[in-house]
Amino acid sequence: TLVNVDGAIVPPAEARVSVFDRGFLYGDSVYEVIRTYGGAPFELDHHLARLAHSAERIGLALPWDADRTARELGRTLDAARAAGGDPPSDPGAAPWNVGEWYARVVMTRGAGEIGLDPALAVDPTAVVIVQPLQGPPARAYADGVKVVVVGVRHEAPAVVDPSAKTGAHLNHVLAVREARARGAHEALLLDDRGFVTEGSSSNVFAVLGGRLRTPPLAAGILEGVTRGVVLRIARAEGVAVDETSVRPEDLERAEEVFITSTMREIVPVTRLGERAVGAGRPGPVTERLHRAFRRLAGGAVGV
Ligand code: PMP
Repeated sequence: TLVNVDGAIVPPAEARVSVFDRGFLYGDSVYEVIRTYGGAPFELDHHLARLAHSAERIGLALPWDADRTARELGRTLDAARAAGGDPPSDPGAAPWNVGEWYARVVMTRGAGEIGLDPALAVDPTAVVIVQPLQGPPARAYADGVKVVVVGVRHEAPAVVDPSAKTGAHLNHVLAVREARARGAHEALLLDDRGFVTEGSSSNVFAVLGGRLRTPPLAAGILEGVTRGVVLRIARAEGVAVDETSVRPEDLERAEEVFITSTMREIVPVTRLGERAVGAGRPGPVTERLHRAFRRLAGGAVGV
């Protein structure tokens, strides 16, 4: 693991930001999680565009522009590779996660006098954390995972714009806490009308009558980069797609359910709470889309 703090690349123990940093005090920050395939960041342009969108939505002036961010990410990846060689491989790892890197880019409004007023922030902070990728194990893809619909509600779009990927994630932290207590891999959050929105760190899809269904962006969800890739792939594969609202009952009667994120790619959901999804095994549409995803993202890295 190596950390780039405002352009200085240091080991984790030396990576420091001020306790007056508003990212720490208020979650007043934006971030992206990016992964590599064959050592190269995947869908980097989309991640950088979303970072700019997030910053714009909360009026945060990014300390680095997109080019600088890409350069600093590249430098940090190079340094991590040089320092550690290839990351060790976990025997249970899915082949496409072996020898790859995780990168978290965090930009905060910076430190200043304590107080909510954003004008108190003096100097924005930029951080890039690079470490060996720990994706879901091969087992998660082969057998599927359990997810639960949690009691914690999704952020209302009128309160915090969920299309902005900010560091203020307490409801997602509590959602994961509840999911873990119930033995689940991921938490699905409902909005205040009871519609399914997204996972704590994933987007959700269902196969209903052979058609792919996922909540629309208007549901106030994060525009997942992986979600976008999956929608593109589905259309190219001739799978009909509906971006329409989803109720928990729709997931219960779905033939297949899966979740997507940068770290997960496409992970089949075979249990929803205490019930099996479909046949209780990863389904054919999920497998087909994941194969197409693998061809696109990691053809060189094995299937
Ligand atoms: N929703 C939320 C709330 C998330 O935090 C994430 C993870 N970034 C996602 C969806 C999936 O987005 P992506 O495919 O860009 O990783």
